[in-house]
Amino acid sequence: MRTRFRGITVREGMLIPGPLGWGEFCAFPEYDDREAASWLATAVEQMTIGWPEPVRDRVPINCTVPAVGPDRAREIVAASGCRTAKIKVADHPDSLGEDLARVEAVRDALGPHGAIRVDANAVWDVDTAVAHIKQIDRAAGGLEYVEQPCRTVEELAAVRRRVDVRIAADESIRRADDPMRVAVAGAADIAVLKCTPLGGVRRALQVAAAAGLPTVVSSALETSVGLSAQLALAGALPELEFACGLGTLSLLTGDVVSDSLRPENGYLPVPRTPPTPDPELLERYRHPDPERTVWWRERLLRVSRLLD
Ligand SMILES: [Mg+2]
Repeated sequence: MRTRFRGITVREGMLIPGPLGWGEFCAFPEYDDREAASWLATAVEQMTIGWPEPVRDRVPINCTVPAVGPDRAREIVAASGCRTAKIKVADHPDSLGEDLARVEAVRDALGPHGAIRVDANAVWDVDTAVAHIKQIDRAAGGLEYVEQPCRTVEELAAVRRRVDVRIAADESIRRADDPMRVAVAGAADIAVLKCTPLGGVRRALQVAAAAGLPTVVSSALETSVGLSAQLALAGALPELEFACGLGTLSLLTGDVVSDSLRPENGYLPVPRTPPTPDPELLERYRHPDPERTVWWRERLLRVSRLLD
């Protein structure tokens, strides 16, 4: 990783060749076998049966602005070529002043027609969320949505009743039945879905349809091999109203394919098949610790026994 993200500095996973192409098994190491099985199912889908037909050939991508100062925020947006920016807010308890300055700078760089969404990563209580969202919305000249302002589904629903800005659920959605729970509770207007932990493109399409909410496809920090499934999902969703959070290769110091899935002019192409790793890059990013390789191989064996 370029910087610590989600508490990790190294992203680990397995790349597995299959009859139709390569798959990536990259469940976070702390996940138990049962949870990891859905991640493996996503890899198996692309290795053995492939993806459903896409309905579009490219997907709009948002740029991501971390908790940086206004000048840096402006640079990131201008360099990205994206027309949608996702801005990290609520980075620390007294962040409001900095959040407002960052959001104003991004609006300035994006122009009046760009879309701004903010992500609070579940840290606000309901009253703080309501107060801050109203101010940030004003500073942004209108927000597209706020991602996960609070932790629980009940809190999200309470905030949603008190603000005009749309609410997106991200952390509240991890397993396949979560989007439905969020929808039934009236907790969100938008579901952030990650195909990789949900068990594949077909499964994620079912989950999206069952929730009945507009969907934003978002990354689980894959290499281009795993990211290709996420793009296949974004390409196959019947409706895609919002830019997707799949421009995340920039968070990694490298990739395993030579033709990486990095957005150009704010778009990524929808691939028909997974990309094939470059042998030289595979060698470069091979795990240096043989014991860790054994750990992954044993995990793969255990988890594969849990698949139907
Ligand atoms: Mg989020």
